[in-house]
Amino acid sequence: MLVALATAATGLLACACGAGAEPAPAQQTPAAAAASPSTARPTATHADPAATHADPPASSARPAPSAAALPLAGKIVGIDPGHNGGNFSDPSYLAQQIWNGRASENCDTTGTETDAGYTEALFNFRVASFLRADLVHDGARVVLTRTSNGGVGPCVNTRSTIINGGHANVAVDIHADGGPAGGRGFAILEPIADGPNNAVITSSAQLGSDIRQAFLNGTSMPVSTYDGVNGVTQRDDLAGLNLTTVPKVLIECGNMRNATDAALLTSTVFQEQIARALEAAIIRFLS
Ligand SMILES: [Zn+2]
Repeated sequence: MLVALATAATGLLACACGAGAEPAPAQQTPAAAAASPSTARPTATHADPAATHADPPASSARPAPSAAALPLAGKIVGIDPGHNGGNFSDPSYLAQQIWNGRASENCDTTGTETDAGYTEALFNFRVASFLRADLVHDGARVVLTRTSNGGVGPCVNTRSTIINGGHANVAVDIHADGGPAGGRGFAILEPIADGPNNAVITSSAQLGSDIRQAFLNGTSMPVSTYDGVNGVTQRDDLAGLNLTTVPKVLIECGNMRNATDAALLTSTVFQEQIARALEAAIIRFLS
């Protein structure tokens, strides 16, 4: 969620006591789920492409592709799971002022949550974890802006610095919105030229197009009924887009304040579908 920051932060801080205990135990879920039999992929083999050569083909039901055949071999992908589970506990940290490329703004917000208290920070982190596993399986190296859902920060400008400094070939900021209860759907937020991002405006728009199509093909989430046009909007007020030097978009995967969207967004199966859609779009973009 990236609008009405002050209002959202204030409103959600009131919920921090109730929601505060939730992210910690659930934090392990993505890692555990990624390793569980139902979702496990041979990541141990593919995480180290060189190891595939030592892996006897007979040991796997599915032939291990060579490193060169992996669709994202040699590629670096940045993933920014928006907010952080601990942000609820540290309003003064969030209130520090950072430069977003055009103006000063707060370091970050808590993010939104569903009416039942499922936080956006947790949703973002779970999707990012599933996506990371998928991308590593495809041979990519992944740069994450945070590696747990139990911490505070980093600030939004630092998140851009991490991905830019990691020399990512492409990146995605993962969020979910806190929109009007009657509104549904996903929205893709694309950068507007402001200097630092000038070289990646066209490529980011292409990435946005690829992600939009992959979402429509791979998930049941419709395009937003209230944000942008046909699910796409340009934004000049977000550090993640203003400061990026790599092709990047921010996706609001759905509206956590809409009951239908919330039921999808809190489902593990749906979170994995989102990750697969993003994976497909990234492969298409980099091919
Ligand atoms: Zn957000």
